[in-house]
Formats: sequence, C-alpha cells, structure tokens
Amino acid sequence: MNERYDDFDRLEVLTRITGILVNKTPLRIGVGREETPLRIGVGREAPLGSAVDLAPLRIVFADGRTNPYIPGSSIKGVLRSLAESIAKAQGHSVHGPWDFEAVENEAKNGEYCLICGIFGSTKLASHVRVYDAYPESYAPTFVKTGVGINRDFRGAQPGVLYTEEQVVPGVRWDFKMDVINIRVFPEPLDERGRLLRRVIDMLVKGMVQVGARRTIGYGLVELKDSRYEVYEVKGGALVKTSEGNLT
Ligand SMILES: [Zn+2]
Repeated sequence: MNERYDDFDRLEVLTRITGILVNKTPLRIGVGREETPLRIGVGREAPLGSAVDLAPLRIVFADGRTNPYIPGSSIKGVLRSLAESIAKAQGHSVHGPWDFEAVENEAKNGEYCLICGIFGSTKLASHVRVYDAYPESYAPTFVKTGVGINRDFRGAQPGVLYTEEQVVPGVRWDFKMDVINIRVFPEPLDERGRLLRRVIDMLVKGMVQVGARRTIGYGLVELKDSRYEVYEVKGGALVKTSEGNLT
C-alpha cells in the first residue's frame, strides 16, 4: 500500500456501468428471524403472523403493491469479497471489511490497501457506488419449506420447519453502478482499475452469486446488455469521453 486513495476533494473521472442483471437460479435476498445481515430497506422482516419466516426485501408502492429488490449494498458486498479473493490469489495481503485495527492503521498512515482503495472502509469513502436493483416488471416469488438445522450439532432439528420466499429464476433487474476516480474503461489505468475490471467481467460472464443460499447455487446472476460511459471534468463541466458495450 502506498497510494493516496483519499482523493474525493476533486472529481476527475466518473464511470457509469449499466445493464440488466438476470438471476439464473432462485434468488433469496430477504432476511428473517434466522439471519439479519441486512438492516436496510423496506420489509426486511416478514410481517407478524406472516406465512413465511424469510421474506424478500420489498419495495412498497403507494397503492400497496410490493416488489422485491436487490439492495445495492448487498451487490457491492459480493463484488468486494470477489475482489478480495482475486487480490489474495495475486499475493496481496487482504483484510476483511470489519478488521477495524487494519482500517485504523491505514487511516493513521493515509495509505490504504487495494480493496479499501476501491470499496472504502469505515475511514475512507468508497470509490464504487452500486444502486438498488429493481425488477423491470413484477417479479414472481415462490415459497419453499425446509427442515431446521441444529447449528450446534449440524443435524436436522426434528419438528422445526421454516419457510423461505424466493424469487423465481429469469427475473430482469435494472443494474447501475458508478466508479469514481478509478479508470476502468476503455482500459484500466492502475491496479484498482484492473481488479475492478476482472470483477465486472465475472458479472458479465454470469459467475457471481448474490443473496443467501449460495452454497446450493442460489442467486447466480448474469449482467446482460451492459454498457459503460466515462465522464471527465473538462473546463469545469462533466463531459462524456468514451462509451461502449461490455461483452
Ligand atoms: Zn484496507
């Protein structure tokens, strides 16, 4: 680590990546009483007396209709851990997002690691912004019942059933992500740009999973119809300097 990544005093280049995320397998993005890793969004818990224990995060329209959505924070978290494993495989020393000692040390020295230099930390703003992904139209869900697992003994807990609501495969979600002050397209300029480019390539190739139950293959997504647009500040104005398809 030796780069100054706290460069938010000036905007030099903004890259916007857009496309359609399609989930190839069922998607469970909700949280319920078993796991509560997400604390944002509407409908994070199944309503009291609801038929399901684990309900998807939902946006609620004014007329009372609801639709599931994928929180940008959860997509960003997945991209971060992918970047961490690639960086680790390349021999970089990598710390987790909740390693506060490493984060403090980086802030004290003003030198941030590759991963924090992209995704931020509690001490450094993120250079990547991922927006909540909403379905293009109504997203059907189905409910699955399972047998509870006893966490201490890793065995089935007799008599304990849970239900999970999942989004059916094939739903199209609007994807939008901004990268600030890192050049990724048309060609990456530094190590952060190259790492981000690899992560985005994996999204395009359908090798990324979001949501829960990833060990059984759920939440596999593919980024389709994806495009990038690069904007740079020229003479005080933001000007589009390049654009293209990601294939
Ligand atoms: Zn770091």
